[in-house]
Amino acid sequence: MKVPFLDVRSAYLELKPELDRAVARALDSGWYIFGAEVAQFEKLFAEYTNARFAIGVGNGLDALRIALMAMGVTEGDEVIVPSNTYIATWLAVTQCGARPVPVEPDANTLNIDPLRIEEAVTEKTKVILPVHLYGRPADMGPILDIARRKGLKVLEDGAQAHGARYRGDIIGAHGDAVAWSFYPGKNLGAFGDAGGVTTNDAELAERIRVIANYGSKVKYVNDVCGVNSRLDPIHAAALAEKLPLLEEWNARRTAIANFYHLHLKNSSVSVPALDPDCVSSWHLFPIFSPRRDALQAHLKEAGVESLIHYPIPPHLQEAYGFLGFQKGAFPIAEALADEELSLPIGPHMSLDQAAYVCETIINFQ
Ligand SMILES: *Cc1c(COP(=O)(O)O)cnc(C)c1O
Repeated sequence: MKVPFLDVRSAYLELKPELDRAVARALDSGWYIFGAEVAQFEKLFAEYTNARFAIGVGNGLDALRIALMAMGVTEGDEVIVPSNTYIATWLAVTQCGARPVPVEPDANTLNIDPLRIEEAVTEKTKVILPVHLYGRPADMGPILDIARRKGLKVLEDGAQAHGARYRGDIIGAHGDAVAWSFYPGKNLGAFGDAGGVTTNDAELAERIRVIANYGSKVKYVNDVCGVNSRLDPIHAAALAEKLPLLEEWNARRTAIANFYHLHLKNSSVSVPALDPDCVSSWHLFPIFSPRRDALQAHLKEAGVESLIHYPIPPHLQEAYGFLGFQKGAFPIAEALADEELSLPIGPHMSLDQAAYVCETIINFQ
């Protein structure tokens, strides 16, 4: 049996007539920047995430960067980030000229540890940037408490968390804003790069809109030094067709995750802990093994694709050599990077495939 890591083409095929019609409509409109398709998706996504505003942008990294810019983050500022995340979270901070201040995760939740945030706050700190990693919401309650007490903004990295819930509320506006990616492999994915920001703050929403469009509200009048990062109508039209299926697709991911939990709980690998406060979107299903590389080779041999999220934590990347962190600086993030393996999961994977993955792991000597 072959088990691909993720089958994005099947998501297209499931909705092919609707998606073909939507993309054709966008092409036929003759309107290829902003316009009705973008406005409609922004409205639907704001409704879905229970946020007052949604603003489409070019990709998830830009969503993070533009939201930070709109929050006033600039040279000399500090932003608190998880030590274990995809590098985009850190790049958004350094693109603003600010310094990422890493905070270790709670090894149980795999998300930024609220108990370690306060000691990382200095008079330069502007924003706390938690990531809902693997689709599991970060512990927003205590994070928002610290932010309120210290007068900080909170920007959530929601790139992996479309449809996730924290204490019953869908991710969308717990903090000041949420940055989204609609990269094709995300739970809600476009046919190329796309992203967005949701927020309840009208002023922040307006600043994000202006910054994303050359810093301009009125054509050829530029209020701030903005960027060019817009959601294309073709992607907006496709995303609007896919959005109504997201809950169903996440439910299918959850069925795979539940199957993995049930069948791997007594195996040699550890599975992510569950938490009654959190409904995960199950963007990824991470397992942990001290023999991770051998296990990955064993799975590959059996036809099962797996990926590592992420093999090198940002502080040990060559790109961040200038920050001066040494190996050992963030031991929890480093241990996770050494042991993590993401199993196949997705709305178009069968339980038979999940059973085969479990069997292959259990047979690993
Ligand atoms: C995918 C991702 C991003 C970046 O999104 P792009 O659309 O690829 O730019 C940011 N943060 C996290 C956690 C991601 O998984």
